[in-house]
Amino acid sequence: MTGARNGTGNGHAEAASAWRIAREQPRSRAVRRAGRAGFDYLVVGAGFAGSVLAERLAAGMGKRVLVIDRRPHIGGNAYDHYNDDGILVHRYGPHIFHTNSPRVAEYLSRFTKWRPYEHRVLAAVDGMLVPIPINLTTINRLYGLDLTCDEVDAFLAARAEKVAMIRTSEDVVVSRVGRELYEKFFHGYTRKQWGVDPSQLDKAVTARVPTRTNTDDRYFTDSFQNMPRHGYTRMFENMLDHPNIKIMLNADFREIAGEVRYDKLVYTGPIDEFFDYRYGKLPYRSLRFRHETLPQERFQPVAVVNYPAPDIPYTRITEYKHLTGQKHPMTGITYEFPTSEGDPYYPVPRPENAELYRKYQALADATPDVEFVGRLATYRYYNMDQVVAQALALYARISGEAQPVAPPTEPAPLVARSAQLDKADAAD
Ligand SMILES: Cc1cc2nc3c(=O)[nH]c(=O)nc-3n(C[C@H](O)[C@H](O)[C@H](O)COP(=O)(O)OP(=O)(O)OC[C@H]3O[C@@H](n4cnc5c(N)ncnc54)[C@H](O)[C@@H]3O)c2cc1C
Repeated sequence: MTGARNGTGNGHAEAASAWRIAREQPRSRAVRRAGRAGFDYLVVGAGFAGSVLAERLAAGMGKRVLVIDRRPHIGGNAYDHYNDDGILVHRYGPHIFHTNSPRVAEYLSRFTKWRPYEHRVLAAVDGMLVPIPINLTTINRLYGLDLTCDEVDAFLAARAEKVAMIRTSEDVVVSRVGRELYEKFFHGYTRKQWGVDPSQLDKAVTARVPTRTNTDDRYFTDSFQNMPRHGYTRMFENMLDHPNIKIMLNADFREIAGEVRYDKLVYTGPIDEFFDYRYGKLPYRSLRFRHETLPQERFQPVAVVNYPAPDIPYTRITEYKHLTGQKHPMTGITYEFPTSEGDPYYPVPRPENAELYRKYQALADATPDVEFVGRLATYRYYNMDQVVAQALALYARISGEAQPVAPPTEPAPLVARSAQLDKADAAD
């Protein structure tokens, strides 16, 4: 990994010309102009939640919307950009789009074409790279066996521990695959990721990762698995490119709230911050990213390799060209180091935190002029499609639209991928 360079460029978002309020303007002028104009809605946060709401309110209801974000870019955590070496990378770690909701896929397809991509992850265990989620190939490679699907079922059943009541992340795994595989794949990884032992974590965390007795090595099995063909930021630019939408970046809600006239507020930031941490801070897990460009075409065989070993300080390495399909003589990678300090990324799923959130939720319920939506405002471990569905459902409520979007977690009719892609291709 010699010759590594840090990628810090801002890429195509910086070149975008569509902003109604130019970022280069001194803040005070931009704020004054926005303040004079007056808006129907102020949307705090330009991630999926804020951008979907802004687009719907502007295009669907003709509302005048000001979107602000304290970061210097749109897209929230899904922001991607071309780094200094011209490689398309994700600033906040790999974002893989997948959904079972045809409505979410159809909605986003208005703003992007898609590139077919099925996510595969390998784990570095016992000096090998083996598929995770654990499947037939994982077991056969790790143990030098040649089991069939039926035999691997019996193999796992013989190792699985009886757990009277499955409560924690540890319970979920040891009851499925036994303690040895739990130690190899989950214990160290989960400890690093969350900073607490899996025995202290809600079962939901590891329950997200299935175990398979066949050779299916896809990370997700959703009916729609594609990446935005020109990246997420381009998709957000298209979404927000409406004459009724103005955007102000590097703008914190606290700083500008008193200077802008608006009727209603959509808030997608952290809910505890909105209420001045009245009941204390909601705990989040954060990540430090180390972005590098390497002077070689390929670094690893798949987009993401997990490193569960406790003595390796990072949890995974991502190589973006697998996700984006970009051809380039060099390659961009990111190491992820979990930390307790920094931007709020993952709500920590423990019962006492859910209890604390419920207190903030009660405050939100008693604040009818403000809509709280998105991952941070509802303290939920949501994927992108779930946030889009949540935002579309909120819009349906605001607009009185007849048919709210079905949550993507519910089984949805299988959408033939080729049909989806044809539709997407026709969209723009
Ligand atoms: C490392 C990582 C990997 C992920 N990978 C995937 C994946 O592969 N697939 C998937 O589906 N999902 C993934 N996710 C989840 C995905 O990022 C979220 O579902 C999605 O980005 C949430 O959108 P959001 O709008 O709710 O929040 P965000 O994207 O966090 O946007 C909120 C925005 O509000 C702004 N903001 C907050 N407070 C203020 C304020 N006071 N003033 C102004 N602006 C403010 C923030 O700057 C931010 O830009 C991942 C998340 C992380 C952290």
